[in-house]
Amino acid sequence: MFDLGSLVRSNIVRVKPYSSARSEFHGAAEVFLDANENAFGSPAGVGLERYPDPGQAELKELISRQKSVRHDQIFVGNGSDEAIDLLFRIFCEPGRDEAIILPPTYGMYSVAAGINDVQIREVSLTADFAIDADAVLAAVRPVTKLIFFCSPNNPTGNLMDAATIREIAAAFHGIIVVDEAYIDFADSAPFISEIGSIPTLVVLQTFSKAWGMAGARVGMAFANASIIALMDRIKPPYNVSSLAQMAVSEACRSGETATSETIEMIKSERERLRAMLTETQVVETVFPSDANFLLTRVIDAKSIYRFLLSRGVVVRDRSDVPLCQNCLRITVGTPQENDRLIAELNNYVRQ
Ligand SMILES: *Cc1c(COP(=O)(O)O)cnc(C)c1O
Repeated sequence: MFDLGSLVRSNIVRVKPYSSARSEFHGAAEVFLDANENAFGSPAGVGLERYPDPGQAELKELISRQKSVRHDQIFVGNGSDEAIDLLFRIFCEPGRDEAIILPPTYGMYSVAAGINDVQIREVSLTADFAIDADAVLAAVRPVTKLIFFCSPNNPTGNLMDAATIREIAAAFHGIIVVDEAYIDFADSAPFISEIGSIPTLVVLQTFSKAWGMAGARVGMAFANASIIALMDRIKPPYNVSSLAQMAVSEACRSGETATSETIEMIKSERERLRAMLTETQVVETVFPSDANFLLTRVIDAKSIYRFLLSRGVVVRDRSDVPLCQNCLRITVGTPQENDRLIAELNNYVRQ
């Protein structure tokens, strides 16, 4: 049985949302003198003198068509990082409630938890980066409100087993978050289609990765309408700027073909990079990847990381993260960037 009321912080239920100037009137308006904007516009150009649509109606319409979900099942935020923060605020009483994460995983879950004074319980992935369902369920306590799954996982790059997530969702009374930031690079169906059957499920996706729009800061959450309504209730009213809404709407309208072409390019480049990495002297293991990066075990991660930096090549040192000893996380770049990385790795002399 799903009882959303029992999961939500009581102050969040009571809060009276900010009512923006644009959302209060109903009917057709011609003259807008309600929001203290400067109707003469700015020297930077046209089109930004008005506040953005707080309901992001046009963008949600485009996303709705593309993902085959209803408008009221979509939240659009200032990156999916905003959605992560809002989930802590909605469901976790500071100083009391807990969330479970499965390290090694995305760092923002524990950062957002810390900001909200929420305790994190860590249940390590297994040695082959899979979910240990028994251990996860054993870590659940009455104050556990959220479990975060990242699939494909950052930084390990692999998909999590969907059946295992379903099994945990069926046994857990709280909210299940499945972060699909990299799902477009995987050959697997997204979890979005399950929001109808798992009422406690929140799926996160983003325009930052496959869509190539990290600078726009637009992320999405998909869930049943009552969870989305709570997120919309407490978000800053104008959380996604007009520039970002226009840019992302334009990308959606241009059709999915442009992005699916770049996704295919990145996937084939990923396999070319894998082959090249494997041939270098410094690489021990390149882990399988369903994402746009390769977790790579090298002979001496810190030293190689610093060497690459000195040559102007930046990768992510993950060697201090559990299960990732001597690992670098390498994003798949353009063919030229990947060739440059390999050339520099071949220049590295064992210290
Ligand atoms: C990059 C990334 C995101 C995206 O965050 P945005 O705020 O939407 O840019 C979310 N989750 C994971 C695991 C990521 O790696």
